[in-house]
Amino acid sequence: MNDLRYVNGEAYLDGISLKSIADQFGTPCYVYSRSTLAANYQAFDSAFLEPANSGLSHQICYAVKANSNLAILNLLQRLGSGFDLVSGGELERVLAAGGDPQKVIFSGVGKQDAEIETALGKNISCFNVESEAELARIQRIAQHTGKVAPIALRVNPDIDALTHPYISTGLKDNKFGLALTALADLRSTLKKMKNLKLIGLACHIGSQLVNPEPFDAALRCLHRLALEFLAAGFPLQHLNVGGGLGVRYRNENPPSRQDYVTLIQSRLSDLKLKIILEPGRSLVAEAGLLLTRVEYIKETAEKNFAVIDAAMNDLLRPALYHAWHDIIPVTASPAEVKTYDVVGPICESADCLGRDRRLRLQANDLLGILTAGAYGFCMSSNYNSRPRPAEVLIDGSKVQLIRRRETIKELYALEKIPGKYPLLPSLLPFLHAFRGGRG
Ligand SMILES: *Cc1c(COP(=O)(O)O)cnc(C)c1O
Repeated sequence: MNDLRYVNGEAYLDGISLKSIADQFGTPCYVYSRSTLAANYQAFDSAFLEPANSGLSHQICYAVKANSNLAILNLLQRLGSGFDLVSGGELERVLAAGGDPQKVIFSGVGKQDAEIETALGKNISCFNVESEAELARIQRIAQHTGKVAPIALRVNPDIDALTHPYISTGLKDNKFGLALTALADLRSTLKKMKNLKLIGLACHIGSQLVNPEPFDAALRCLHRLALEFLAAGFPLQHLNVGGGLGVRYRNENPPSRQDYVTLIQSRLSDLKLKIILEPGRSLVAEAGLLLTRVEYIKETAEKNFAVIDAAMNDLLRPALYHAWHDIIPVTASPAEVKTYDVVGPICESADCLGRDRRLRLQANDLLGILTAGAYGFCMSSNYNSRPRPAEVLIDGSKVQLIRRRETIKELYALEKIPGKYPLLPSLLPFLHAFRGGRG
């Protein structure tokens, strides 16, 4: 999908020299491709327009947490995307990026009063409810503000997504969703909640799914539940199939977007309900890379290390999930091929972005860490007082800075050293006692 090519040993993304980006914006630096992002979005969207799938109305609601840069959100908004959020902060971002509240879905297990109030005030399209307590909370707030809140129930179908345990969300011991066994009681509870309107059912079983079986099981579960709710007199408008479609980081073979949509269609189309999708990773992962420079080559008796200027604080996935990202040369190097552990400067042994990589390297060479557009920058931190990287977007022949690099001063701008004076009053009684003792 990505237009990544070499000319005279130098890497070009969408026709732009990555070295020129490093020269202009410094490293580490996230580089995104607008054309890849748009192509990914359109691949989902157009799959619904295929003759076999026609008639099925749909809305893509991009999962903001995967990459929440305003420029990325704005781009997706212009392509017609809605947004799936998990916090009031994400709602503010979406609005700041020009997103349409009428296409916003609010998910997440811990929605706070103020977040619910704001989202209700903005007339978002739906709250995806994850617990009975949340149902009661939204009812209370909606009643208080004289509104009717549109809701969907996020169900937990107890399906093993066959992915990393940290990103598996549809098993009954995960914190997400409503247990299937609780739904019958919830239906009678819902009938009494006059400020809630049930408009959909939702399901999201995990992330980086590469096997169609769990998706299929979840879709069949949604279908069965939809029939139950319709029979019980709830006029559902939509079914939300969540996100989770995997991408190829190394040698995975996830279903294509077309096959995924065809599967959805084959399981759900007879219900004639609108289909909502919440892809995150599958829209943005391949559209981004992390550009980094080799600081040192360090060769020990055991291993060769390439110490780069990017680290686990910039891209957490390898440290957190043992995730693999391809690492490619950006500039030609005359060095011989060796096997390297590509490590960052952070004082943690987990700070390794790639193990046992065959590369030609010397200090100052540039590398690209691929498929880093999702859960990359948005999971970055300032650990070790490292300013977070710049982000740039390749847009045709232009390279736009979409987030400048942080400065060190910004890292401690909110901190304060307490004044020395408050200590004095607490010492006064002792001084008095001392004086008094001497008469
Ligand atoms: C994280 C999340 C998504 C997106 O998941 P991806 O694997 O990035 O597609 C969609 N829906 C919900 C509710 C989520 O929590």
